[in-house]
Amino acid sequence: MDCIFCKIIEGSIPSKKIYENDKVLAFHDIQPAAPVHALIIPKKHIATMNDVQEEDVEVIGEIHLAAQEVAKQLGVHESGYRLLNNCGKNAGQVVFHLHYHLLGGEKLGPLNG
Ligand code: 5GP
Ligand code: ZN
Repeated sequence: MDCIFCKIIEGSIPSKKIYENDKVLAFHDIQPAAPVHALIIPKKHIATMNDVQEEDVEVIGEIHLAAQEVAKQLGVHESGYRLLNNCGKNAGQVVFHLHYHLLGGEKLGPLNG
């Protein structure tokens, strides 16, 4: 399958890994938008948030637990961070493998800014 993040999971494209378990992988974004910018993805290929099924409920929870772990490892657990998903065209989704951005390390702008 021609999916960049599936290739990162299988190791054919390198990444700077932060955290991994049997269901999820977290790695540094290649083009950081903040001092801390990690991506957290399910190992199962799910294209967008709209494609999440009942059977995926557990992995979505795992992503939240992984976010806590990533935030601890990257030193933003106490200072605060943002976890966000872009779904589809208007949100600017570019990679069609479900992913959550974890952003922090500075005071982030307001969503209505
Ligand atoms: P989206 O706009 O789809 O929510 O975000 C995709 C993110 O993936 C972008 O922040 C982009 O910098 C990141 N990205 C794209 N290709 C790669 C890659 O090959 N490696 C890593 N580590 N990040 C990538
Ligand atoms: Zn994929």
